[in-house]
Amino acid sequence: MVADHADHVDELLGAHFAGALDPVESDAVHRHLEICAGCRDSADEVIEVLAALALIE
Ligand SMILES: [Zn+2]
Repeated sequence: MVADHADHVDELLGAHFAGALDPVESDAVHRHLEICAGCRDSADEVIEVLAALALIE
């Protein structure tokens, strides 16, 4: 199964939660997460990774 790369935001999630996206991109990510369970799962993983990194630093 091949995901639609134009729509999914999983590659942007790291930058999104790190606050590195510009407001337009960040808003697009936020709206996509509201409609896409797959990317919400990815978001949960990204949040866990960022939390783990924050503990290390
Ligand atoms: Zn998605």
